[in-house]
Amino acid sequence: MSIERTLSIIKPDGVRKKIIGEINKRFEDAGLAIVNAKMMQLSKSDAEGFYAIHKDRSFFNDLVAYMTSGLVMVQILEGENAIQLNRRIMGATNPAEAADGTIRSDFASSIEENVVHGSDGPETAKAEIEYFFG
Ligand code: ADP
Ligand code: MG
Repeated sequence: MSIERTLSIIKPDGVRKKIIGEINKRFEDAGLAIVNAKMMQLSKSDAEGFYAIHKDRSFFNDLVAYMTSGLVMVQILEGENAIQLNRRIMGATNPAEAADGTIRSDFASSIEENVVHGSDGPETAKAEIEYFFG
């Protein structure tokens, strides 16, 4: 284990639900530090580029529409084992399968509108932080 950085996004539904504070409290209570953050309105090309890995999936166009539907909070979390820890705090992609007490179990309304993004490994964390923070 080591000190890592990971990219977190509070998606438009999370911002609309006014749970930025609640979500970030969970990260901080778990020992993660928010070391950079910005509110953004993603353009279509921002969202398409960020989710390029999913471009052939049936849900891609809906995903881009959702991610551009309002402000997002893009942030860097830092801490011991931050990548996996963040994924654990978030819960599974599908809220119906997310463990009790996770962000997605508590707040997500569907497999698409699932409140938060988190990098899924060291390479994606590095690339995603670079994508938004240069
Ligand atoms: P995660 O965000 O947990 O890493 P994925 O990388 O598989 O999940 O998917 C990226 C995002 O695409 C999800 O968070 C969700 O918003 C959306 N998504 C994933 N699978 C589906 C699906 N089957 N139908 C609609 N949207 C989906
Ligand atoms: Mg993913």
